[in-house]
Amino acid sequence: MGKDILLVEGARVLGMTRRDDVTPDGALLVEDGAIVALHGDARRRGAEAIAAGRSLRRVDARGLWLIPGFVQTHIHLCQTLLRNGPDDLPLLPWLKTHVWPGEAAHDEASLEISARLGLAELLAGGTTALLDMGTVRHTDAVFRAAEASGMRVTSGNALMDDPATNPEELRAGTEESLAESERLAKRWHGAAGGRLKVAYCPRFAVSCTDGLLRTIASRARSNGLLVHTHASENADEVALVMARTGKRNVTYLDDVGISGSHVVLAHVIHTDASERALLSARGTTVAHCPSSNLKLASGICPVPEYRAQGIRVTLGADGAPCNDRLDPFTEMRLAALLPKVRPGAGVLSAWDVVRMATADGAAALGLPAGTLETGRRADFVLLDPGSGFASPTAWRDDPYGPIVYSMDRSHVVATYVEGGLCYRRGEPFPLKPAAEEIDAAVAALKRRQSEGDGRKR
Ligand SMILES: [Zn+2]
Repeated sequence: MGKDILLVEGARVLGMTRRDDVTPDGALLVEDGAIVALHGDARRRGAEAIAAGRSLRRVDARGLWLIPGFVQTHIHLCQTLLRNGPDDLPLLPWLKTHVWPGEAAHDEASLEISARLGLAELLAGGTTALLDMGTVRHTDAVFRAAEASGMRVTSGNALMDDPATNPEELRAGTEESLAESERLAKRWHGAAGGRLKVAYCPRFAVSCTDGLLRTIASRARSNGLLVHTHASENADEVALVMARTGKRNVTYLDDVGISGSHVVLAHVIHTDASERALLSARGTTVAHCPSSNLKLASGICPVPEYRAQGIRVTLGADGAPCNDRLDPFTEMRLAALLPKVRPGAGVLSAWDVVRMATADGAAALGLPAGTLETGRRADFVLLDPGSGFASPTAWRDDPYGPIVYSMDRSHVVATYVEGGLCYRRGEPFPLKPAAEEIDAAVAALKRRQSEGDGRKR
């Protein structure tokens, strides 16, 4: 058995290592999922492989742009079937009336449909890797869908153990929650050739007991799993944490040990100077979710200020019902536009934003991807700047502005993970559930939800 070889040639290649790392008519040679050569070297070695009689998959990418796959650092695949719920509720009532009852009604089958729909949408938008927060139960269904998708997925069961703050139907006790995370880690961490990973996912400080947070913080430090939670998304949430703990949210998380380069906090909008200093000193990542923050009227994350303090900021679409898209182009565009309102023009360039969506996201998740360099895994996307309405792009030399401001997911031609084709525009896409499957799963969710309501009465 020879090694699987892929040669992609003719594209404008955006390596994302430096702003000027842009090669017209570039090439990429992939062997067994890794980038082994670029450009002239890739063509030469490709020709040698053919001369040696080795079989080689060849992709003619002339006219296309080749970029590392997008990395989204905050997603809820379990919520995709809850898309197009209420539009005008702030965080806590929205969770209590729509999201938590919906999540509680999942069984394995509906959760798997939800995850497949979300993963299909992510691939079709050029996302190759994501950090997902699961729900309390049935998380194997998310990993099964992730395995089938070919994508790089880190996920875990949502930890919600405090009886005072969580609905009974969406709560697991402290020991049960911890045991489930350990069971999932044993089954899935490093599975599918390393594409799948398990993270500890306490939902937010309000939903967890102090003991649970301290235990996972210490376990994560010894076993190397990521910790992913929401923090300081909403002013009422910050007030609740203050009432429970006497501390600001980020300060409290740091106190229990949830901070550091293995921690990704979603949102992080309402912080004071001491919390920002902590984020910077510890190397904690902030996952910025601009659509979600606007739709839930949560506020605007001070991204330029964070970056100026050396805090790593990455991007995510959050769950489908607070967006209602899982589209990296929407998040990049909003992330670039919001700072122009405050503090003003010129603080966050299109280059900065594409870096956040690729290399910075990969670094936050500890993934060997996010840039196109020899030795990195071959997770990449082909974009067609000539299709749709992103043209002309001839007014500028750099390609980042068009990606952030004029392109959308309709420009994604193909998405590859580990050199394997996971999505091609216009071709059959069995990962995406059929409309009838989605309708049936939502009908079942609604039925189980009303049966649950009936039992409570
Ligand atoms: Zn979220």
